[in-house]
Amino acid sequence: MFRKISALILSLIFTFTFFSLAIGNYYSEEESDGPKRTLLISIDGLRQDAVQNTEYGKYLIENSSYSLEVTTVNPSVTLPCHMSMFHSVSPEKHGVNSNVYTPSDELGDGIAETVFGEEMSAAIFYNWREIGYIVTEGSVSVKEYIPGETLGWEEANRLVGEATVKHIQNAPTDFVFMYLGFLDEEGHGHGWLSEEYYYALNESFSLIEKVITEAKKQNYTVIITSDHGGHDHGHGSDLPEDMTIPLFIVGDGYGKGENLGKLSILDVAPTVAQILGITPPAYWEGTAIPKNAK
Ligand SMILES: [Zn+2]
Repeated sequence: MFRKISALILSLIFTFTFFSLAIGNYYSEEESDGPKRTLLISIDGLRQDAVQNTEYGKYLIENSSYSLEVTTVNPSVTLPCHMSMFHSVSPEKHGVNSNVYTPSDELGDGIAETVFGEEMSAAIFYNWREIGYIVTEGSVSVKEYIPGETLGWEEANRLVGEATVKHIQNAPTDFVFMYLGFLDEEGHGHGWLSEEYYYALNESFSLIEKVITEAKKQNYTVIITSDHGGHDHGHGSDLPEDMTIPLFIVGDGYGKGENLGKLSILDVAPTVAQILGITPPAYWEGTAIPKNAK
């Protein structure tokens, strides 16, 4: 008799647990509406005040949640800034203070490793070799380097755009990163905000327009930002021209023409995690940009 009652109680517990789990799954599926994919685009050397001087820049301001007051990290140099963009900590913590990759012992997971840890997939497309260091080997399923150094930066930009579009059309991963190096090269060669700089910016924006068109069809939320600005023929100082970059978000939950105010480059990684619905590592220092911010 006692055994029969125990068996009955056990089967009741089992049934109850089973239904609770089933209902739990049902509700969690209700909350998600399609893949929460994220495309992050970095235009190297994009100074915030250059944006309004281009047609597509003005279009982005009107059609995204945006900030023209994003502070990058010091030194305002490409590899340290991208490390901070991906790892949401300052160069002091990640240890990369120049374009030579010298990570500290404190370096933890960045965006790519966190995405991989959540059993999601990631891909990166870039044309400056050192960008490859910002993701750990094996954390991304596609890592395509199209060398600007040998192909020429304008052509390499075009090929990065093409490869990204093809990837998004055919085998889209949860997270995609696209890096464009042409603008920074023109800044160094001809000066920030020079005619050649604006030519490179318009070329970069026309590639981005094509990529966004495909990304929207595949449910991507798109973040467009930069690593640092520049002045004269360089960058790396703590001047506002070097330290202030723009950021745009286009996607579900982010309004159009909405000024997000002051942000930090450290906020990029937590925002990517929020869009993908994954938990950011505790050591990340930035804050996710809230959806439907008013
Ligand atoms: Zn540069």
